[in-house]
Amino acid sequence: MGLARFEVNMTKRVPFISGNWKMHNTIAESIVLAAAISGGKANKNNAEVCIAPSYTSLAAVKQTVKGTKVLVAAQDMHYEEKGAFTGAISPSQIKDAGATHVILGHSERRAIFGDTDAIINKKLAAAFKHNLIPVFCIGETLEQREAGETISVLESQLENGLKGFSAEDMKSMIIAYEPVWAIGTGKTATPQQAQEAHAAVRKFLTKYSADFAAKIRIVYGGSVKTDNVDDIMAQPDVDGALVGGQSLNAEQFIRIINYENK
Ligand code: PEP
Repeated sequence: MGLARFEVNMTKRVPFISGNWKMHNTIAESIVLAAAISGGKANKNNAEVCIAPSYTSLAAVKQTVKGTKVLVAAQDMHYEEKGAFTGAISPSQIKDAGATHVILGHSERRAIFGDTDAIINKKLAAAFKHNLIPVFCIGETLEQREAGETISVLESQLENGLKGFSAEDMKSMIIAYEPVWAIGTGKTATPQQAQEAHAAVRKFLTKYSADFAAKIRIVYGGSVKTDNVDDIMAQPDVDGALVGGQSLNAEQFIRIINYENK
């Protein structure tokens, strides 16, 4: 099964595994965790490994992983360049602090902070403009899944979030399929549910170009753990994972990075 992922449309996609530390860790704690993760030598799947600390720890984490292949992401950003936006952080500021990637549209941002598809669209545009690699999150609520709306919700989030962009604009983008009901709940989508959603997202993206859809990485997020990552990663359209809870523990996160290739 593992090989299938690389053979779909004859396109090899490098696995992308990112931690999302959310609102956890002081600067000192972030340095310890980043050092433990970047010091873990094993990366048997040659995955791209990324960690997303709080803004306050970005620069220190960047410094800690210097000289390793570990990438650093911000968990969000504002779309404006500068100005009277008290409490917000701009694309240039996260870049200045060391981020090369930025998580956008996370369901917690959508639900708690009111990020709409239109706002996320502006943030994505700002990421492309600043050469930041967005990890664009989409996903349905439990209510929407139970109403049989999963695929239409994903398509609508893609349609509205990606309005105005070309395949060329989006070529570095990573999409994270994160069913809202699986985030931080301990409930995980079954490997089949993940595959179904990922395949639908990839199919939707063929409208830009078949080549773009074949190359884009679609990662799964929602209670990824050491004991379910192998089966999730075995799905042909799952190209990695966005990990919340278990990315706060270096040993667990390193095991997730080193998933068994089934
Ligand atoms: C997330 O924050 O994106 C996430 C998937 O969290 P968890 O792994 O804790 O469900």
